[in-house]
Amino acid sequence: MVRAAVLPAPGQPLQLVELSLPEPGPGQVRVRIAATGVCHSDLSLARGTLRQPVPAVLGHESAGTVVSVGEGVTSTAVGDRVVLCWAPPCGQCWFCGQGEPWLCEHSSDAAAVPYASVDGEPVYPGLSTGGFAEETVVSARAVLPVPDAVPLEHAALVGCAVMTGVGAVLKTARVRAGQSVLVVGLGGVGLSVVQGARLAGAGAVIVVDRAPEKLELAMSMGATQALEAGGELAKQVRGLTERRGADHAFDCVGMAETIRACWSSTRRGGTTTVIGIGGKEQVVSFTALEIFHFARTLQSSVYGSTDPFTDIPEVLEHAAAGRLDLGALVGRSVGLDGIAGAFEDMERGIGVRTLVVPSS
Ligand SMILES: [Zn+2]
Ligand SMILES: [Zn+2]
Repeated sequence: MVRAAVLPAPGQPLQLVELSLPEPGPGQVRVRIAATGVCHSDLSLARGTLRQPVPAVLGHESAGTVVSVGEGVTSTAVGDRVVLCWAPPCGQCWFCGQGEPWLCEHSSDAAAVPYASVDGEPVYPGLSTGGFAEETVVSARAVLPVPDAVPLEHAALVGCAVMTGVGAVLKTARVRAGQSVLVVGLGGVGLSVVQGARLAGAGAVIVVDRAPEKLELAMSMGATQALEAGGELAKQVRGLTERRGADHAFDCVGMAETIRACWSSTRRGGTTTVIGIGGKEQVVSFTALEIFHFARTLQSSVYGSTDPFTDIPEVLEHAAAGRLDLGALVGRSVGLDGIAGAFEDMERGIGVRTLVVPSS
């Protein structure tokens, strides 16, 4: 039996339960979780904005140690320090064949298969991971090795926020050295965008948030100008970019208002990359004339347009070499009983990434 935080149904509070977790089957591994970051998608799953069969153990940004392996597993062994990937591409479907593994049709299949039980009732692994628990069982394809120089508590964030944010800059938008970058919304993903922009050698990195302490944190990570949300953003950004607007904008909020503000803040020919996951009620509008005149690009970035099998090791290498400061993204740590509080902080926009340490 392992302790886990289970979501009984969308809209209900998480419950701490004793989970019976079977030994790993063929091609699977069992991982003792060192830490799991609390991601905005967990909140969306808990509310029902994102769909996931329930009851489910949420938590999909995890790292830990392999404690047992199933039949036929050769890619990893007991004792390995690993980061978990919630969307391992299948390598077989049409999208994988196109070289777009982040759109793989089967990368989330495991989320719909029960993997454990509580009092005999089946339980699903949230986003195929089930990280809010002492241990989990996942596909061996969903774990990648962590270099010794990177603490597991930091590596956990690479599983979601860092791949999403850094990937959006390097892979989706392909920001070039010297280009100006606007980042709206400074959660774990937004701050990863800031670090990715530095890695890309961006020029001006303008950051926007409601919380002054997050703006300060972003400045310490290499942002060059901080703007408190609420002003006339496009005008403010033009004032900082020789009246042209930014080359790139990254929306890490996912609201109609912020997406539209990002788009209006880019230069003619500029690009807005939407990373935030918005709701169906958010409607963004443009006039036909401005779409033509400004010749801008509006695109989304799913999982940072990354291939986890090659890009997770690359990002961990950047962290091991000190080119990414994962530690700066980590806020406070809580036990499994502290997740509800972490959700509340996230809703109010307080603090940076909260880590759930199941053993605490
Ligand atoms: Zn996430
Ligand atoms: Zn695929």
